[in-house]
Amino acid sequence: MKFVAELSQLVFPQRCIGCLNLGPAICSQCRVAWHPHIYTTHVERLVVTSAILYSPIAARILVAAKEGNQRSADNLVIDALRHVVENYKGDLKNLTLVPMPSSKNSSRKRGRNFVESLCEDLQISYSNILFHQKRVQDQSGLNAKDRKQNLVGAFGVENRARIYGDIVLIDDVVTTGSTLREASRALSAGGLKVSAAITACVAQPLR
Ligand SMILES: [Zn+2]
Repeated sequence: MKFVAELSQLVFPQRCIGCLNLGPAICSQCRVAWHPHIYTTHVERLVVTSAILYSPIAARILVAAKEGNQRSADNLVIDALRHVVENYKGDLKNLTLVPMPSSKNSSRKRGRNFVESLCEDLQISYSNILFHQKRVQDQSGLNAKDRKQNLVGAFGVENRARIYGDIVLIDDVVTTGSTLREASRALSAGGLKVSAAITACVAQPLR
């Protein structure tokens, strides 16, 4: 197996996910941009805690995880989320993470629901009770106002029996907060109060 690993290094030399230079999965320079801290932002009354400031390097890492299914990129995102979870003020044994759902289309394309699969690795109870109930555009090309409009009524809530303790929303990145706001609204319309939200990355300024 070692031989196979070495051979694959020769054929497909490893590159840093952040800058694509040959070397380890993340080079020391890119590590500076992907070094978990604690950042707190607010989406209306919802407190959002994140680990990494969004940057071109962070963007490449998220894309490599989300679109490229690269395990080493996944691990960086999981480390960031774990850092946030470890700093959570409440009781970790008494909370349920609610992952932001991928659309059916992107789940099919990627072979997984991205944020839900991160929850599995975090080993904290989670419940995928949110689902897309209407077609939404990819948020990345939209401004803050259009993002909000795009997501109105986007999420439905199902199977609430699997929820207990604090409800904590989880996503890879918070940008304008539209996704978390709409998820929180959908859950509260279903009688469920969201306690907090965590994300790996936070894009600033948060508008
Ligand atoms: Zn690098």
